Amino acid sequence: MIDTHCHLADRKFSADLPQVIARAEAQGITQMVTIADSLIEAQACILLSEEYPQVFCAVGVHPHHAKDWRKDDTARLRALSASSQKVRAIGEIGLDYHYDFSPRDVQREVFLAQLALAKELSLPAVVHCREAIEDLRAIIQEVQPQKLVLHCCTERWEDVQPLVENGYLLGFTGIVTYANAQEIRRTATLCPLSQMLLETDAPYLAPVPHRGKRNEPAFVRDVAAFIAELLGMPLKELDRKTTENAVAFFGLSS
Ligand SMILES: [Zn+2]
Ligand SMILES: [Zn+2]
Repeated sequence: MIDTHCHLADRKFSADLPQVIARAEAQGITQMVTIADSLIEAQACILLSEEYPQVFCAVGVHPHHAKDWRKDDTARLRALSASSQKVRAIGEIGLDYHYDFSPRDVQREVFLAQLALAKELSLPAVVHCREAIEDLRAIIQEVQPQKLVLHCCTERWEDVQPLVENGYLLGFTGIVTYANAQEIRRTATLCPLSQMLLETDAPYLAPVPHRGKRNEPAFVRDVAAFIAELLGMPLKELDRKTTENAVAFFGLSS
């Protein structure tokens, strides 16, 4: 089993990361992809993935930080992704119109630049979206990257169906286990298994029964168990298929 999206460089893990990674291993989480939200965090993610053989990383600037983007940051990101074999994706990038921490036009510009870079480098894009699905789809349509996952999918099926039809993937987190998440469960049910990834988005969004606590990669097993039950299939089968998807998407070892 693989946690395809966690934030191990987050300071919530700074006191006990070796134990967090050991607990994941004990739960059979063989590989993890740690995701950056800024260029500074990208460097930390690269260092972590150089330190732990089972950790890989994505480098990119989150829409919350789009306002800090400078013109030569595309070149910086290009250099960062070339600096380590462990960099397997550009992310997380995208649009967040819920918090609006950066002006929307700036978010669109920075998302477009990074998505184009992912395409140029033939790297998968790890995409974040909140209350911005139409603008997000328009930019994806314009760039047409080779590989993309809409992570922490909270969208209605009808809103993401065009992306799935284009061959892109959906990532599901612990949100799927929350009582009020019927719409997300419906999307998970309709998503083809061959286009599904499992993730925690740790340290945030801990799945039931850990809700309210700090999330960690070991808990991706709870997300998997819940979705297996939802789809009426053995956990082993869901694990095998989604692990295969993650291995192919990020170029990991199986
Ligand atoms: Zn996100
Ligand atoms: Zn994230």
